[in-house]
Amino acid sequence: MKPESMQADLIAALQDQGLRITKARKALVLEIESRSGTFTAEEISESLPEVGRATVFRTLKVLVDGGTICRVNTPLGAPIYTRARVEHHHHTYCVNCADVQEIRLSNVELMLEPLGREVKGQIVGHSVDLFIICDRCVDAVSQA
Ligand SMILES: [Zn+2]
Ligand SMILES: [Zn+2]
Ligand SMILES: [Zn+2]
Repeated sequence: MKPESMQADLIAALQDQGLRITKARKALVLEIESRSGTFTAEEISESLPEVGRATVFRTLKVLVDGGTICRVNTPLGAPIYTRARVEHHHHTYCVNCADVQEIRLSNVELMLEPLGREVKGQIVGHSVDLFIICDRCVDAVSQA
């Protein structure tokens, strides 16, 4: 994704949710854009001492709801955020090195069809993230 379109997407996502683009939110968008890997709300907050923590948390939530960034819950500690690169996807989270990857899980999508009959109500979305020990970490252990 080109930097310009990343920034435009983030701003559009905020506007879609009815938020005004204040100086603080603009600073937040630029900060998110500058990060290529994962980040926590805490890290963003530390980089932007002039932006209130409540604004950071609220804006991140709006961006997650809008689908431009992802929140990945971790087994221990705070959730981490990544920029969404493809439309519908799942994540793997390495519990050893905290690496996050986007993955497609076609079996999960197939599983949902029969599941829909067991669930009262209509399924409108889902979130499936897998906690793993990544190949790199497995290799590092077996070599030690
Ligand atoms: Zn994602
Ligand atoms: Zn790992
Ligand atoms: Zn899915």
